[in-house]
Amino acid sequence: MPEGAADLDRLEAEARAALAAARDVQALVEARARCLGRKGSISTLLRGLGALPPDERARAGEAVNAVRDRLEAFADARRTELEQESVSRDLERGRIDVTLPGVPSHAGRLHAVTRAERDICTFFASLGFSVEEGPEVELERYNFDALNIPDDHPARDSHDTFYVRPGVVLRTHTSPVQIRTMTGRTPPFRFIAPGRVYRHDASPRHSPMFSQVEGFLVDERATFADLKGVLYAFARHLLGPATRLRFRASFFPFTEPSAELDFGCVLCEGRGCATCSRTGWIEWGGCGMIHPKVLENCGIDPERWQGFAFGMGMERAAMMRHNVPQIRLLYEPDVRLLEQL
Ligand SMILES: [Zn+2]
Repeated sequence: MPEGAADLDRLEAEARAALAAARDVQALVEARARCLGRKGSISTLLRGLGALPPDERARAGEAVNAVRDRLEAFADARRTELEQESVSRDLERGRIDVTLPGVPSHAGRLHAVTRAERDICTFFASLGFSVEEGPEVELERYNFDALNIPDDHPARDSHDTFYVRPGVVLRTHTSPVQIRTMTGRTPPFRFIAPGRVYRHDASPRHSPMFSQVEGFLVDERATFADLKGVLYAFARHLLGPATRLRFRASFFPFTEPSAELDFGCVLCEGRGCATCSRTGWIEWGGCGMIHPKVLENCGIDPERWQGFAFGMGMERAAMMRHNVPQIRLLYEPDVRLLEQL
């Protein structure tokens, strides 16, 4: 197959163009096989030289070999170039600009009610109270009967109970914990029971789930004066040293005598504002001396032992501390609001 010098030049130019056009190493390997491989255009050309007369054959072979060497060198250089480009691209892709501003990370934090609960537990621990817990799904017997609230007692109506099944309720207060804790044990006792409670109340001022903390102290000489002392210390720890308390005579089935407990509004310092309905006082909870029947129900001799109990909403404390006007806002899943607490 005679090959003129012009054809050889064209072949070389085409091969160079193909090698130069390869955009990555894989494409280059393929282009190289097409022109320099065993079945490539150059090899085909070399094999065709056998048909030439001997004197032309040597000259033509020399020329083709020279072209092949130049193309090999060109392909090698192109490969190096492509490999460098690939490394540069990788570096560029992974480049870190240390002068860019950072991306702020959102750290989670404890909910305002959780913080209030922990603070309350720490405070009472300093007075020697232990922390007791009970189940949120509770026996009706512990939630009511053992607390001196029999079936036909009107107090059951005010509790708007969620029934899980007959005889089992979502606890409406943390008071059943006192039954569980006192039964089968011998006084003196000193403990608090914090936790969530549930009442079926759909009004916007209430939440169907809220948190209470109750406290109990039983010994041979506990008095109402001790109760007041503990509550004053607690309120002033929580809401400030100038906090005032008001005890209003009341009725609860499980305490006798009983009192409702108000604290002086922290927001208006007693002058009257929207949060305290212009009264200067905010209802907080109830307290009293534990009813002898309740002690009896726990197997404790009321002739020898007496004690006091108190209970209040934890949200009220959290609302006062963070100036939140409605309990529902505490349980909204709104991160903008929660971050302000
Ligand atoms: Zn007020």
